[in-house]
Amino acid sequence: MEKDQYRPETNAVRIQTEKTWQMEHSTPLFLTSSFTYDNAEEMRATFADETDNNIYSRFSNPNVDEFVRKVCALEGAEAGYATSSGMSAIFASFMALLKTGDHLLSASSIFGSTHTVITKYLPKWGIEHSYFDINNPAGIEALIKPNTKMIFVETPSNPGLEIIDLDLLAGIANKHNIILNVDNCFASPVLQRPVAHGVHIVTHSATKWMDGQGRVLGGVVVGRADLIKEIYAFCRSTGPAMSPFNAWVLSKSMETLHIRMARHSESALALAKALEGNPLLEWVKYPMLESHPQHAIAKKQMSGGGGIVCFELKGGLQSGTRFLDALKMLTLTANLGDSRSIASHPASTTHAKLTDTERVQVGITPGMIRISVGLENVQDILDDILQALEKSK
Ligand SMILES: *Cc1c(COP(=O)(O)O)cnc(C)c1O
Repeated sequence: MEKDQYRPETNAVRIQTEKTWQMEHSTPLFLTSSFTYDNAEEMRATFADETDNNIYSRFSNPNVDEFVRKVCALEGAEAGYATSSGMSAIFASFMALLKTGDHLLSASSIFGSTHTVITKYLPKWGIEHSYFDINNPAGIEALIKPNTKMIFVETPSNPGLEIIDLDLLAGIANKHNIILNVDNCFASPVLQRPVAHGVHIVTHSATKWMDGQGRVLGGVVVGRADLIKEIYAFCRSTGPAMSPFNAWVLSKSMETLHIRMARHSESALALAKALEGNPLLEWVKYPMLESHPQHAIAKKQMSGGGGIVCFELKGGLQSGTRFLDALKMLTLTANLGDSRSIASHPASTTHAKLTDTERVQVGITPGMIRISVGLENVQDILDDILQALEKSK
């Protein structure tokens, strides 16, 4: 029962698992490891891929399928597979599509664990990589080698909010017959649809805006059917499947994703504008501020700026820790994309082990604060930030 004939907001609400004989309104939780058959012939046919019946929840599950169908409808993608976390979605996309001797070309400003996978683990299987500077797209083509198989990028990037032109990148990838893999976590499919720009596969941490309330981990990869087929085959055997419970939570969350992203974006823009020009700040960064270096690209490919705002404290590293200590309402936690506003200081936490030079290469400066703007009244968020800024001096 495909119901993806509606507009995206409606699809996010109305795509639903077929009703059971109980005629429930909301999708039940299918907490079951495996599925049953009436007879040996039905079981044989299902194992031979001659039916659409489920077999085992490592392969497929009704709750997980419902969530995947929603993400595919929102992203405009042909197929998808959901995983236990964003990292397992990204890792599976690498492992299923790359082999020994291949070369991966990745932006350098990417999520820390993705950086670890590319730098530390892929070389173990003989998969090489090079990093490019997202702020210098003209230099990308020169880094392509005969064995370059995939280009990977996050836009906007975490945490630096750097943005790259997806049309330009898709043009380069298609010219050289390379798979373009985009982590669309920061924008969500509500604000940016990479597939419409020619991107081949889109990865997500569903843990962030898709859940939106900081409850469950999840990941999803969607895109061209032939590529997703490879990823599915890899995952079916190796087991990073999403839990049906998490899928049930995430599918319910998708019903409110559009209204939440609109509010997160509206509050984040108001906050960014209120903070821009504050004498205690070096700069404020937000995709929809005209001062953002890639503002023109953001306006072209995003329908809103998203919920993350970054700023640089004039006092650098020490001011950063003083700022965190002075906050009264904003939470200090490692997540983002929550209904509750969160502050983080990458230089003293997630990226503390890097040298100053390495940090600059991944888009992080010593006094940089990342705010994940929640659903509270924006004035309360601003008030808390302003009083903490005074104490960070
Ligand atoms: C959090 C995050 C991930 C990893 O997702 P998990 O669900 O934590 O595994 C990947 N990419 C980006 C941009 C993220 O913010």
